[in-house]
Amino acid sequence: MQYDDKPKDECGVFGVFGHPRAVELTYLGLRALQHRGQESSGIIASDGEKFTYHHGMGLVHSVFTTEVLAKLQGHIAIGHNRYSTAGESTLENAQPLVRNYKQGPLALGHNGNLVNAVQIRNHLENAGSIFSTTLDTEVIFHLIAHSRKRILEDRIIDALRSIEGAYSFVCMDKNTLIGARDAHGFRPLWLGKLDDAYVLASETCALDVIEAEPIREIEPGELIFLRSPHRGIESLRFRQRQSRLSQCIFEYIYLARQDSMMFGQSVNGTRREFGRQLAREHPVKADVVIPVPDSATIAALGYAEESGIPFDLGLSRNSFVGRSFMNPAQAIRELMVKIKLNPVRDVLRGKRVVLVDDSIMRGTNSRKLIKIVRQGGATAVHLRIASPPNKFSCFYGVDTPTRGELIASSHTIEEIRKYIRADSLGYLSIDGMLNSVKASEDFCTTCFDGKYPIPFVDQPSEQLPLIVD
Ligand code: SF4
Repeated sequence: MQYDDKPKDECGVFGVFGHPRAVELTYLGLRALQHRGQESSGIIASDGEKFTYHHGMGLVHSVFTTEVLAKLQGHIAIGHNRYSTAGESTLENAQPLVRNYKQGPLALGHNGNLVNAVQIRNHLENAGSIFSTTLDTEVIFHLIAHSRKRILEDRIIDALRSIEGAYSFVCMDKNTLIGARDAHGFRPLWLGKLDDAYVLASETCALDVIEAEPIREIEPGELIFLRSPHRGIESLRFRQRQSRLSQCIFEYIYLARQDSMMFGQSVNGTRREFGRQLAREHPVKADVVIPVPDSATIAALGYAEESGIPFDLGLSRNSFVGRSFMNPAQAIRELMVKIKLNPVRDVLRGKRVVLVDDSIMRGTNSRKLIKIVRQGGATAVHLRIASPPNKFSCFYGVDTPTRGELIASSHTIEEIRKYIRADSLGYLSIDGMLNSVKASEDFCTTCFDGKYPIPFVDQPSEQLPLIVD
């Protein structure tokens, strides 16, 4: 039994240029980005002469002990937390990847998913290239190495013009930190400053933790080079920004941390507005609003504010339970969800409850949650979802269930309500969600409407979308 029936964060990237404690800062940045990937972690550092690096499976604090960190030296560093959306979960696939090409060592950490990596890989393998991982990221190295251009900037531009998909990445050679974001702007990437040093991070919460000042988001289609404090930020365009961007709206719903800024507005404020709008669209008579912790807490606050129904914490979350758990017998498995979430009886007993969650994937998890809330003594459970029905899989770097597994792809809302055994069920509308964000035309909403902004060259035929926008 899985409690975490949620889309999985893609990956987190972080980089520092020009700081004597670049390695420690990268370590702290990765800890702040732990929610974006928990399978493996890596840091590469350069002192201008050579790379030192370490990768490991598991959480950042367990991969990087004090002794390991002391071996990494340099004023430039990049780091990566991985959750696998492409490639297997093995140490060989841990990022950042390091490769030597004819101009020296190069390291790269990538957040997102390329949609034509298999096609490029086949082409390169037919031409004699040998790959050592199953990562889509590795094709970028090969494309850089194969480029006939002389300088690194032009080689990277060549590579980026060949790949399609969703990506934000940090890259480094011995003397340079490099950042890039795809022209659709799917995945976030921020630039910050700490004294004379520059910092790149997937989210601003990682800049905050090292007390770096956020400067701006890397623009879609922009490639930046950081070589020296005197030269500052050298910015190039490798592709024109798309007239309509495809920023991932799921960052606001679930993926990003509440304390981050993202795509020009705060995650906290946006999530709260989703909750307020949900209350306007789906009011109900109830005694208490409770969130599914922790990701739905802010939306539930918004629902409570708008509806005037008191907010309380009716589910207690045990945050010390790891992701992995041995597979016990069925009877014990049924109890596993309670290891993570337990009802707070004096909040729930005798109450009509509005239970707010951020999304429903397969529906099995919602069914269990509702059962727990009823076991806590609730007399009615009205489930409210702070996003529209999730009907389509993501191929742009977020691990979602297959379309056939997504309950809303094949069931009406009333059928879902019956299955999860809620007294009522209401989802945020697509219009309501988009009215809560600035520049609503610049967001990917594929999960809900199936309008895939870029076609997938690599996907198997049964996964192909119905509509390509
Ligand atoms: S399909 Fe969904 S999860 Fe994927 S990028 Fe688009 S909005 Fe984000």
